[in-house]
Amino acid sequence: MATHDFDLFVIGAGSGGVRASRIAASLGARVAVAEERYLGGTCVNVGCIPKKLFYYASDFGEGFDDAAGFGWTSEPRSHNWKKLIENKDREIARLNGVYERLLKDSGVTILDGRAQLLDAHTVAINGMRYRARYILVATGSWPVMPATPGIEHAISSNEAFHLDAMPQRAVLVGGGYIAVEFAGIFHGLGAHVTLVHRGPLPLTGFDYDLRAVLADEMRKRGVNLRLNRTVERIEKTAMGIRATLMNGDTLDADLIMYATGRRPNTRGFGLENAGVEVNSTGAVAVDEYSRTSVENIYAIGDCTDRIMLTPVAIAEGNAVAQTLFGPRPMKIDYQNVPSTVFSHPNVSTVGLTEEAARKRFAKIDVYKSSFRPLKHTLSGRDEKTFMKMVVDAATERVAGCHMVGPDAGEIMQGLALALRLGAKKSDFDATIGIHPTAAEEFMTMRQKSPEPASA
Ligand code: FAD
Repeated sequence: MATHDFDLFVIGAGSGGVRASRIAASLGARVAVAEERYLGGTCVNVGCIPKKLFYYASDFGEGFDDAAGFGWTSEPRSHNWKKLIENKDREIARLNGVYERLLKDSGVTILDGRAQLLDAHTVAINGMRYRARYILVATGSWPVMPATPGIEHAISSNEAFHLDAMPQRAVLVGGGYIAVEFAGIFHGLGAHVTLVHRGPLPLTGFDYDLRAVLADEMRKRGVNLRLNRTVERIEKTAMGIRATLMNGDTLDADLIMYATGRRPNTRGFGLENAGVEVNSTGAVAVDEYSRTSVENIYAIGDCTDRIMLTPVAIAEGNAVAQTLFGPRPMKIDYQNVPSTVFSHPNVSTVGLTEEAARKRFAKIDVYKSSFRPLKHTLSGRDEKTFMKMVVDAATERVAGCHMVGPDAGEIMQGLALALRLGAKKSDFDATIGIHPTAAEEFMTMRQKSPEPASA
């Protein structure tokens, strides 16, 4: 008789947990997944998907403006926020149903509720106890709200998806991808937007040139950037909410949204009962196979704070399922993970930044290109597309590709594959472009940028 109720008990049915559950079940394991909030987790409910739908909504605004140069006239236009929210909610509900079906069709037992670890093999949920051979922690992350006085008047990205009305004046606090994406969303939908960031440029950690170009483009669109600034306090006023910056400046708004980081969800569900170690950043400590300090307990996704992206959580979930129930152990290659910021315009990147490449290699070659996209020759929009390639001079291998411009993510996905395959600059040179596209520019970059010292 089986001594365990399940071979694998997954805590959290987000991007990583769902993938691990389905793959493990397909490999013959008896699997349960516990979910306390929403099937699909952050990405489906309050992350990538509704964010991208909002992004599309805001992008239409620019599209209407750009169309005039192509001969279109449009009636006075208006945006119906309630309709956007209703349609978005309907799509999210559909996706929740898809996730439920996928799990059930795979034979996974779904347990609605908050799971608690009692020991290394026992999970309690809804008054029941289950014994599992392996446990997978896939509990995600949660927005961090700082202890700024008046913070209760501000929201996080979680609430931004359920606002009753579109703010006319929005203050975004933070300089990461979520802050710049929502700055673009609210601005595109007609709000007056201010972004307050404590650093000199948004998108810390991205290539410097991308950060500078994006900041310029945001300013050109009319987003008010308050850089090297922090919010000292927030208070309610007769007209809305007011943020006072550390230099005494005040910003009046209808909405203040913080996007100043996310913390791994590792508290309050008994990790300590099982002896699972958490590292100094509060993330579950794992090895390269996502195994925790406890032999039969694994952890994946945001709660491990490696790279907080959906495709990474999914890949880790698959790898754990393969390791435990597949033919051989599997680990993830974290090099050349591409990513995109759905700002206006998009920012996308794969591989090393120029700064990182200079530290890694003895000599690098840098190629840059900045041009007006063909579309804007007629639209009249003052927007530049920027591309950059970083090459290890010794091996001629392309170490990083970076772009600011429309559809940057769609372009970068293919370049990520090229980098993974070890493409050299000469391979890019020998590849025929697709004309007329922006992407072809990556194949035709000839002019090396001068070395910084001589530039
Ligand atoms: P999650 O998807 O967060 O799932 C964890 C689940 O565990 C949750 O559903 C939670 O309710 C559940 N849970 C937690 N504790 C328990 C418990 N004790 N018992 C039962 N259930 C529990 N990534 C991208 O790749 N592209 C994007 O464009 C992108 N945009 C984003 C935009 C925003 C605004 C945000 C916030 C995130 C975005 N991300 C994006 C990041 C992405 O959403 C996450 O990296 C991804 O969802 C992480 O997956 P996960 O499985 O680790 O955790």
